[in-house]
Amino acid sequence: MIHREHLTRKFVEIFGNREMRCFRAPGRVNLIGEHTDYNGGFVLPMAIDREAAIAASIRNDRKICVFTVNLDEMAEFDLDNEWAGKKGFWLNYIEGVARILERKNIKLQGVDMLVWSDVPAGAGLSSSAALETAVGLTLTQMSNQTVDLVTLAKIGQQTEHEFAGAKVGIMDQFVSANAKAGHALLLDCRSLDYEHLRLDTTDTAVVICDTNVKHDLATSEYNTRREECEQAVERLKDYLPDIRQLRDVSITDLEKYSDKIPEVIRRRARHVVTENQRTLKAADALKQGDLAGFGRLMWDSHKSLRDDYEVSCRELDILVDIALRLDGVLGARMTGGGFGGSTVNLVKREHLEQFKEEMQSEYLRLTDIKPTILVSDAGEGASEITEVQSSKSEPLL
Ligand code: ADP
Ligand code: MG
Repeated sequence: MIHREHLTRKFVEIFGNREMRCFRAPGRVNLIGEHTDYNGGFVLPMAIDREAAIAASIRNDRKICVFTVNLDEMAEFDLDNEWAGKKGFWLNYIEGVARILERKNIKLQGVDMLVWSDVPAGAGLSSSAALETAVGLTLTQMSNQTVDLVTLAKIGQQTEHEFAGAKVGIMDQFVSANAKAGHALLLDCRSLDYEHLRLDTTDTAVVICDTNVKHDLATSEYNTRREECEQAVERLKDYLPDIRQLRDVSITDLEKYSDKIPEVIRRRARHVVTENQRTLKAADALKQGDLAGFGRLMWDSHKSLRDDYEVSCRELDILVDIALRLDGVLGARMTGGGFGGSTVNLVKREHLEQFKEEMQSEYLRLTDIKPTILVSDAGEGASEITEVQSSKSEPLL
């Protein structure tokens, strides 16, 4: 977390001493339910205790001026002018949210904002969703507008589509906006119905291991997988006319008609259909406090992503294979889109130190790359940072 005092001090340094309010929204890790979101299926992520934090102060005009501590850069835009359309610019994640809010007739006032995030960018922990959600909350609150968190999540997703060119599902922004501390979030990506499920990390820790690699394949293969899923639905519709997405296909039906679809498409579909099933089973396991059962489903998820969906890579497989051999590990799997990024592990706390050491040294030995290891409790969704809240917790930065 980023301490309020640090945030406001930095704001004063950049913008001067003004009346301000602070807001935050977390990054996330997906525990299970991978590549199911764009198939209308289920996901089970949790917010991590890393976040994008913002200090903001109102301006008298309609300019949004942003200083990002992470990049040590200042940039601005005017709400009364058009978007300049500069691709790949970090400000797009902020400007997109503002533009979409205004398009929805939510009139905004100009603000000065200081952005500071401890969600590592590009590690698969959704620093972009954390930023969009925090920005959405900041801009609306500063303009005395009330917009519900589900709408803010959708606006964040739309920002990725239109302003960052990333055709992402709703999961990241949804959990960043709506997570509850100490809980994972089961989300039906079609209806957006959701449930907070208690995740007790007293004895078992959620550990994220970043491969620190990102293969170029990620974006192109992501788009290919989306198309392959659509193809599977098109083929299966001849036999199952009522289906809209792979979410509507049962394992039995898929097996029954599997010889009607080409082999590769069949494996893609099998991953999605079984992963949906596993996610619902994992939710049941959580409800029963059965973390060992949850962990077994994580292994199965990884195998399915590796063999059927083919979105893993050597580095992710190495991390999972090392974890598999260590004591006290209940489960491990790649998390996020794949082709790099992180794995998520459930590790008994009594084995945590040894787990970290072994993961570090073995991964380094096999790949010549140092992994980054992060232990996180399930964090709270987007909120205002009040002074009371912040004085209770230890600063990280
Ligand atoms: P991730 O998996 O972390 O979401 P993305 O590529 O989707 O990776 O988003 C990372 C991008 O989001 C960064 O390259 C940057 O443009 C933007 N971003 C995230 N956090 C910040 C920040 N604190 N300040 C400025 N830009 C940020
Ligand atoms: Mg992102």
